[in-house]
Amino acid sequence: MSTLKRISFIVLFLLPICLFSQTNVINNSKYTIVIHGGAGFINKDIPDSTKNEYLNSLNEALTIGKNILANGGKSIDAVEKVIRYMEDNPNFNSGKGAVFTAVGTHELDASIMDGKDLSTGAVAGVTIIKHPISLARKVKEKTKHVLLAGPGADQFGKEIGVEIVDNHYFDTPERLKSWQKNHKKKIDKHGTVGCVALDMYGNIAAGTSTGGISEKMHGRVGDSPLINAGTYANNKTCGVSATGVGELFIRNTVAFNISALMEYKGYTLKQATDEMIHKRLEPGTGGLIAVDKDGNYSLSFNTHGMFRGVANSKGLFDVKIWE
Ligand code: ASP
Repeated sequence: MSTLKRISFIVLFLLPICLFSQTNVINNSKYTIVIHGGAGFINKDIPDSTKNEYLNSLNEALTIGKNILANGGKSIDAVEKVIRYMEDNPNFNSGKGAVFTAVGTHELDASIMDGKDLSTGAVAGVTIIKHPISLARKVKEKTKHVLLAGPGADQFGKEIGVEIVDNHYFDTPERLKSWQKNHKKKIDKHGTVGCVALDMYGNIAAGTSTGGISEKMHGRVGDSPLINAGTYANNKTCGVSATGVGELFIRNTVAFNISALMEYKGYTLKQATDEMIHKRLEPGTGGLIAVDKDGNYSLSFNTHGMFRGVANSKGLFDVKIWE
């Protein structure tokens, strides 16, 4: 073979293969995706139309993520896109439809983590960012930090060019009524959203986005933007997104502990999620969704219900509210 032929062979044939195999090794075309839309007391007497609205919303969110993964997309993109949809959907407590703080405003938290390299980004207490999950991803990719909070995070959003809205954009008549009357029985105290995905390349990503807890103090930050508490992802073990009483998830380092139980003690995903949700936390405090590196999943909660869904490459596609 002449030198010219050899060089063209390397450039045209071998080089693309090497590059492709380093970044995109297809792992048996397997993928799994799980989503949640919050856990808590969810009144079973809600009208069928409301129930169907929630189920349809979960269906649409899951379809967005499933299609990305089925077409060979990356888990981090699936997580961001699913959560953006849920942030736009007023039925959930994230983005549009976020709960009100005690002083009648909205303060939003979100985080995202890539299990491939443990890179993370998060924002807390943002007030004008239409899609907090996308700003969290920008923190991960465009800064050397992992968490930006308050006015600094809003300012970063303006500078980096994400969509900016007035704080009233997040208002919905239902949340306002509930805030004014402090209704206890409405679907209101929850609705945080989350997504965890394993893509065909064996990469796990997780993300969570929320308006926090209704009537929270101005400045209160929950578990959702805190990596290790509300969100965690590690290709060696699993990815997790939690929902519930944030203070308890922070104190118990719930999301990281699931991964740690698997890595250090050899627990299965189910054993690890059972340990945290049913043994360490008290009943009625929350739930989580998780996917491990082999595509096993867990949708675990100790509350009356949890808005949730799962889809995978074996054809599973399911959304549920109660047990
Ligand atoms: N965990 C969220 C928080 O404490 C609320 C929720 O998931 O319902 O901010």
